[in-house]
Amino acid sequence: MSGNPKLAGICAVSLSGGYFASTVQAPPTDLTFLAVGQGDCTVFRHAGATVLIDAGPATPRFDAGDRIIAPTLRKMGVKHVDIVLLTHPDADHVGGLVGLAKRKRVGKVALPLHFKGHPQVATLLAKIRLLEKDVLWVSDRDELKIGAATLNIRMPKYIETESDNEGSMFVKLRVGNGSAVFTGDASVHTEARVSGRYEWRAQLLKAGHHGSRTSTGDAMLSAVSPEAVIISCGRNNSYGHPHQEVLDRLGQSGVKALRTDREGHIRFKLTRRGFERD
Ligand SMILES: [Zn+2]
Repeated sequence: MSGNPKLAGICAVSLSGGYFASTVQAPPTDLTFLAVGQGDCTVFRHAGATVLIDAGPATPRFDAGDRIIAPTLRKMGVKHVDIVLLTHPDADHVGGLVGLAKRKRVGKVALPLHFKGHPQVATLLAKIRLLEKDVLWVSDRDELKIGAATLNIRMPKYIETESDNEGSMFVKLRVGNGSAVFTGDASVHTEARVSGRYEWRAQLLKAGHHGSRTSTGDAMLSAVSPEAVIISCGRNNSYGHPHQEVLDRLGQSGVKALRTDREGHIRFKLTRRGFERD
């Protein structure tokens, strides 16, 4: 599979530091699902690079980027973010990028090409003042390589009249024996269409749309066949996420459900066996 040369270029940027000098401890490889309230933000660190998948929510009163993500990254020892993949332009996925970018340097942002010109995207990009060359418009079958890790992207066929959720970027992350799948807020219908187009089998699946009954359907669940599903939702959120139907679906499939509203940040470190709960 040929990757987008723009994306391949990120690795050269990210990995130019010579991190494996014998006197320096190897940087960690881990995957952390942050408790950002009602929204999504996952941090992947590998080979000295830091990748975010979504950037948490922001409301007029609370910016998760400023209040949660930046301080957590600081505690993790992350000085800057190499790239943020934004699955789709809804405020609970992109809003926190504004506060984050004020406190941490953000190298690049990747967005689905079909959202180029979307009014919320234009507003966001203006606020974070990223140079045009650092905004990557990604398409179906693009891939991002970082050291030994690969992030494969699949994009639903999106029609502008649909909800933004149906244009969510699908991502499969692989590193060593660890793997995880992200589907943004795509509905079961979009999941079903995309699930047959790739080898999705993975250890971890982030529940679609914060555990809404309209996502994480049987097609995606059986395609990924995960050991655990991580649900990112706010405590006592007004949507009732995660819906009981989803928890039942997971229970019937024998899949463990992990919830950020109950457990806080959920971190997995990479071992020889793959991602293991820290
Ligand atoms: Zn969402």
